[in-house]
Amino acid sequence: PPAVSERPTRITVDLDNLSHNLRAIRAHVGVPVMGIVKANAYGHGLVPVALHLQAQGVEQLGVAFVEEGIALRRAGITAPVLVLGGIFGPQVAQFIAHDLEITVSSLDKLRQVEAAAEAMGRKAVIHLKIDTGMERIGVHSYSSKSFVEAAVASKWCVLKGIYSHLACSDDPSSDMTGKQVERFHDACAHIERLGAPMPLRHLANSGGVLHFPQTWLDMVRPGIVLYGVLPDPASQCTIDVKPAMSLRSQVVYFKVVKAGNPVSYGATWRSDHDTRVVTVPIGYGDGFPRSLSSRGSVLIRGHRYPIVGRVCMDQFMVDIGGDSAFNEDDVVLIGEQGGDAIRAEDVATLAGTIPYEILVGLNDRIPREYR
Ligand code: PLP
Repeated sequence: PPAVSERPTRITVDLDNLSHNLRAIRAHVGVPVMGIVKANAYGHGLVPVALHLQAQGVEQLGVAFVEEGIALRRAGITAPVLVLGGIFGPQVAQFIAHDLEITVSSLDKLRQVEAAAEAMGRKAVIHLKIDTGMERIGVHSYSSKSFVEAAVASKWCVLKGIYSHLACSDDPSSDMTGKQVERFHDACAHIERLGAPMPLRHLANSGGVLHFPQTWLDMVRPGIVLYGVLPDPASQCTIDVKPAMSLRSQVVYFKVVKAGNPVSYGATWRSDHDTRVVTVPIGYGDGFPRSLSSRGSVLIRGHRYPIVGRVCMDQFMVDIGGDSAFNEDDVVLIGEQGGDAIRAEDVATLAGTIPYEILVGLNDRIPREYR
């Protein structure tokens, strides 16, 4: 919206880095890619990211909710779109009307989808969700026989895929992933035994893509690594990916704070000497974590400086010591400047959370630009 478009605080999405990451993932796994664009494309902007991935030939897109799928169709996305979340009966007709692929996670839900498809006289495209260890949505692999058989026999459903979700794939040393792969193959074996064509089998999220080749199967479903960010900051990156997002603002105020004078709400921080403090116009109202109060840092003029005092709703303060900074100087919160870089992973670690929460938390108050 024009009212905020001149805001100096902005997210810049590097579309070349996104293309690079898609190519790197493809080259690494050698199978088609379902680009996961739920939650506003992990904060990068649902529609612009989806349009770009589609132009780069991504085979499929994945979202969490039907509303996200409809937004993609309204924006002209023609690529296949799978909605990963569980379905509610009254919404099924919307999936079919917008040509969105449906995650079917129980026999009851299969029947709901069949009823809606029959009423519309239009087949529904479905992926079966098998629970191999998340205990989230999906039929347990050990009791999936009748579920799988009903889906194969369905007159009103086209069985396009079968999938499961990995709980511990961000940890290369966990034995959970191997167990989940075995359980998934047990469920797929029911289809084999029926002599029916095998639908697309997909299992790998970013952790699977990075660390577990046995999860790649017929398609992979990377989210965070597509954006150049690691699921677990402590783990090794096995693919050369580049962060797509940077978050920048500008200095909006400069002042000298006298020794002993507290800074920000709660008066939690004070300097023992006179110091120079600048104010940056972004806060937790934008999704910049309040937990970075007196913990995070930013880059200004190529130097790293600490955030001091509490992060406010719309602003926070930075101690630049004896250095100089001026109004409208660039401030990097995530990204590179002067040979130094702050990664989303670093911000997450300092904030005591995971990089996912940092990225998706950055909300629509921050304008996004695409380069
Ligand atoms: N597949 C499913 C079913 C998911 O729920 C998610 C995200 O949580 C993904 C794939 C992508 O996960 P990641 O961002 O870890 O690659």
